[in-house]
Amino acid sequence: GTPQSDMAALLTEIPDHPSSGVVFRDLAGLYAEPGMLARLASHVAERLDGQFDRILAVESRGFVLGAALAALTGRPLSLARKAGKLPGPVYEADYALEYGRDRLEVQKSALCPGDRVLCVDDVLATGGTLHAAARLVTVSGARVAGLVALVALRGLGGQQRLSGHSVLALCEVP
Ligand code: 5GP
Repeated sequence: GTPQSDMAALLTEIPDHPSSGVVFRDLAGLYAEPGMLARLASHVAERLDGQFDRILAVESRGFVLGAALAALTGRPLSLARKAGKLPGPVYEADYALEYGRDRLEVQKSALCPGDRVLCVDDVLATGGTLHAAARLVTVSGARVAGLVALVALRGLGGQQRLSGHSVLALCEVP
């Protein structure tokens, strides 16, 4: 069966984290549920029906589903990391945070022109992070096969912001 109905009950709301007024969705219970990560990865793989050549997982919580998907599908896994962590030539994409800016990078050797790349993260909020991941893909000459998040937060404009892409969110919360 589809895992969505079981997901919501495994999410925890943490008020005032990481700062006052913010409600943080904690996915720890989801990852701790026996078999759940494998079910989620299988569900994503089925929905995408093999229509991607590579996975680009976003540091750091996107690495969890990204690794599970890569292990399941046998597709190569590339890691998008925060600024300054990767050696050698990198593609860069800046994005806005609530306060200030951040940057994702990926090694140039980790993306191939023409590849259909699936970008993966844990939570989709404003969409800024997955939008930056998508830009890393396009600047490399590869194509965005889709954007995947385990949880999408409604009302922050994330889905609209990413509207040029196919977005798969396994669970939506207010
Ligand atoms: P966005 O760029 O879409 O505004 O925020 C998504 C990024 O911030 C993701 O990388 C995600 O890990 C993190 N994030 C934002 N809000 C939450 C949240 O409520 N829970 C968790 N686990 N991560 C969040």
